[in-house]
Amino acid sequence: MPDAPAAPAPASPATDTATPPTEINRLIRLQQANKARIRHTTATQRADKLRRLHQMVLDYRADIQDALFADFRKPAVEVDTSEIAAVAEEATYAAKHVAQWMKPERVSTPPQLAGTVSEIRYEPKGHALVLAPWNYPVNLALNPVVAALAAGCPVLLKPSEYTPYTSRLLREMVQSTFDESEVAVVEGAVDTAQHLLGHPFDHIFFTGSTEVGRIVMKAAAEHLSSVTLELGGKSPTIVDATADLRKAARRIALGKFTNAGQTCIAPDYVYVHADVHDAFVDELATAITSFYGETVDERAQTTDYARIVSDRHHERLAELYRDAVARGARPAVGTGEARDGRFLDPTVLTDVPLEADVMQEEIFGPLLPVRSYHALQEPIDYINSKPKPLALYVFTGSEATADQVIAHTSAGGTTINNVLLHYLNPALPFGGVNASGIGKYHGEAGFRAFSNERAVVRQRNVPSPLDLLTPPYTALGRRAVDLALKLV
Ligand code: NAD
Repeated sequence: MPDAPAAPAPASPATDTATPPTEINRLIRLQQANKARIRHTTATQRADKLRRLHQMVLDYRADIQDALFADFRKPAVEVDTSEIAAVAEEATYAAKHVAQWMKPERVSTPPQLAGTVSEIRYEPKGHALVLAPWNYPVNLALNPVVAALAAGCPVLLKPSEYTPYTSRLLREMVQSTFDESEVAVVEGAVDTAQHLLGHPFDHIFFTGSTEVGRIVMKAAAEHLSSVTLELGGKSPTIVDATADLRKAARRIALGKFTNAGQTCIAPDYVYVHADVHDAFVDELATAITSFYGETVDERAQTTDYARIVSDRHHERLAELYRDAVARGARPAVGTGEARDGRFLDPTVLTDVPLEADVMQEEIFGPLLPVRSYHALQEPIDYINSKPKPLALYVFTGSEATADQVIAHTSAGGTTINNVLLHYLNPALPFGGVNASGIGKYHGEAGFRAFSNERAVVRQRNVPSPLDLLTPPYTALGRRAVDLALKLV
């Protein structure tokens, strides 16, 4: 097998390229001043911007592939599907539907409000801030921008400092495509994020860890800015005895090891029925070796497998592995080996005790603990004893089992007999619940996240029943109230 290109020097947080606070303040003032104009943009104008964004990611396809390879050796096909196509599709979908979403929505009128008409008007929330993570650094930066543009909000975007090549490219792409008074990118790390959070944005859209989500929400509380928090956590997967084990293993392996496990909705751990545990682990072995190679050397060579984003995250994962093994877990597939260049072998762990760190914290890397159960209630109880997950997957041949899990657990989203798919349908709202997130986006949900649903009632030029209820409260007025109470 030919040598894979060497991994570039580790990407270090791009503090040297950070946008200076004075420049950030200038952009904030500019965008604030522009929000009233953008508010009045028509559906056609917004669709035009969305198509421009769509074209932008296609025009920069090769540069995006290069930047993501430089940041963490993300395979080009994964860049095409999970970054470029994901943004292109979201932008196209929004361009197609934005006129419909913007239409005021007439609602019904209760009898006591006879003589009025009521509607919901979707007005832009105003100036928006997007703070993005590193794991899908184009997708998770630009898809919130799609939603902001559809809703008519100027938006300031800060990508992650951990993917400096991609963050720099995003800045260049946006600069060449949009007026900075509408969309602008600022670079920087935590200091920059905190500087931004000191300003009174109308809406803050944050994607990242639950821990930082809390910090963002506290900062937003200072200005009572509304928030969408797209957070993390552990996404459980249940495989029951009736599941098609081969398909389940291949799909779980793909969902887990794509992006080297650095996917917020990757299956974090698997609970498999004890009767099929060994057969399922065998299928996982077949899937992993057919995807990435028979030996750890082959897997370290293939260009179809990403690297861990930073030395810090690489060491954290290596430590999770060491801790699990020290507590009795067995590497059933893969070696858990961590190598220079931030490679970590895709690894399945069995016999993992619940106290192991790998079962306690979000893994966010290519380690897959597999535990067995006897009764479905066991994984259901376990899941319910933990914070509500962002995603929950069930592999089963039984609709009733799938429905039972859905009915007795809570999660941001669920795919049955596959993984990640609920993320990919723009007609579905995407997001978490409590610790895994607050608010939703994608498609219309994204438009609504950046819109204020304004309640508007128009009184027609006819008498209103409420005109009878002015003081002094007469017998006639009291009779009207008696009647009204019978109607409500
Ligand atoms: P992170 O929380 O470390 O960083 C996200 C963003 O917040 C970055 O722009 C960063 O600069 C900024 N930030 C970091 N510390 C900050 C602080 N103290 N104050 C203000 N801003 C700060 O997250 P990450 O490591 O980039 O991403 C991984 C996490 O994101 C995982 O938990 C993953 O599950 C989650 N995630 C969630 C989704 C989703 O859609 N729900 C998608 C991708 C990732």
